[in-house]
Amino acid sequence: MEKLSNPKRTIEVIQKYHFDFQKKFGQNFLIDSHVLEKIIDAAHITKDDFVLEIGPGIGTMTQYLSEHAGAVLAVEIDHNLIPILHDTLSGYDNVEVLNDDILKVDIGKIAQEKNKGKPIKVVANLPYYITTPIIMGLFEKNVPMDSLTVMVQKEVAQRMQAGPGTKDYGALSLAVQFYAEPYIVANVPPNCFMPRPKVGSAVIRLTRYQEMPVKVKNEKLMFSIIRASFNQRRKTLQNGINNSGSLNFSKEQVVEALEKMELSPTIRGEALSLEQFARLSDLLEELKG
Ligand code: SAM
Repeated sequence: MEKLSNPKRTIEVIQKYHFDFQKKFGQNFLIDSHVLEKIIDAAHITKDDFVLEIGPGIGTMTQYLSEHAGAVLAVEIDHNLIPILHDTLSGYDNVEVLNDDILKVDIGKIAQEKNKGKPIKVVANLPYYITTPIIMGLFEKNVPMDSLTVMVQKEVAQRMQAGPGTKDYGALSLAVQFYAEPYIVANVPPNCFMPRPKVGSAVIRLTRYQEMPVKVKNEKLMFSIIRASFNQRRKTLQNGINNSGSLNFSKEQVVEALEKMELSPTIRGEALSLEQFARLSDLLEELKG
């Protein structure tokens, strides 16, 4: 089967199968071979790798992945795309297509069964409406993973990579950076997709830490503190924590913890690093007794 990575071939396939794009599934197919090559390069895929592709669409990137990886599992929610994928991927014998919702698939179990529990690589042009649940789901469920190389909305990529004190820094930056090192590989304009999305896109690689760089006693508490701190961006960290419905710390406890860290009681959440949030969480837990 001829490569799909150009507008002409994509239109041919879509017309042959009378395929209708489903907005609700975030369907914007890649039609630019340079972008596809960049993604494959950035993902450092070798014949030793088991790759999970989320949302293969008509199989454009899947063809590239199949040529570079040992094996590919492509999970696609839209059943109308399955006969198309069987056609476009018929010449590739190391690809399996699964018709399912990625948020409902037990990827940890699949990695265990198909890759003997060894770390997999995730590569995807993600459906933007569920970018965060997909990425955080893979991290939080401890799926054995080397890296995720994904196309996301440009602003989301910038938030994932942002550091303290910048306008894009927030709960998503900290959640991602707790598990992985982010690196924005490329910005991708709307004309590289069919149909064109209304937003700019970026490819980001998240390299999973094999050993967590930040230790915290109670992860759940730390992330509740982080969320509370960024809920009211303009307010102080102390106000954010005290105004949150779910955290039960007194004003004095928060101020005492901040003092122990030699931080001002009026500091804002956006000034704290991940290490500092971890320390704050440990101190608050201690103070609560
Ligand atoms: N990989 C293709 C490409 O680059 O041309 C298509 C990418 S398109 C942005 C996103 C794909 O994810 C679509 O094929 C869509 O149907 C699929 N998708 C959307 N929600 C999904 C879900 N919950 N589980 C699996 N696939 C999903």
